[in-house]
Amino acid sequence: MSQQGPWILENGKYAGQSLEQLMFKDPQFVHALTIRGSYNGSLVAHAQWLWKAGKDKALFCPCGKRAKYIVLYQDGTGDFSVLGAYCQSCAHSAGGNILLSADFSAVLRVASWGRKQILDFLKRSFGLNGRITAKKAFAFFAGNGR
Ligand SMILES: [Zn+2]
Repeated sequence: MSQQGPWILENGKYAGQSLEQLMFKDPQFVHALTIRGSYNGSLVAHAQWLWKAGKDKALFCPCGKRAKYIVLYQDGTGDFSVLGAYCQSCAHSAGGNILLSADFSAVLRVASWGRKQILDFLKRSFGLNGRITAKKAFAFFAGNGR
């Protein structure tokens, strides 16, 4: 199932923003909409479509293969940095110590202080620079492949 256009929220803390924009700002908010039963059915369906579209966006390893992991290095103080996205065989030589699935679900696996780094990495990897408008974000998720 595809969608015709962005879903703009009418109220709440994100009123006026689209779900597509929120994938790069607060993806856990979008994810929550896919699983909570108390919202209207078409909002949940849109969120489910969007989450799947995000998960299907491919990241590529420097070797050219489709990436399987986003690799992070976490030091002794708990700070971490995103080393990159790697395929299965390259991930082990990347020097990281945390491997997350190479898609938007990675942000659900880290504490809130780390989410922005992963979102910035995803934006860079997908070539989304500058302000992400509702139209630009929808075009990204509705497009085929990358
Ligand atoms: Zn590789």
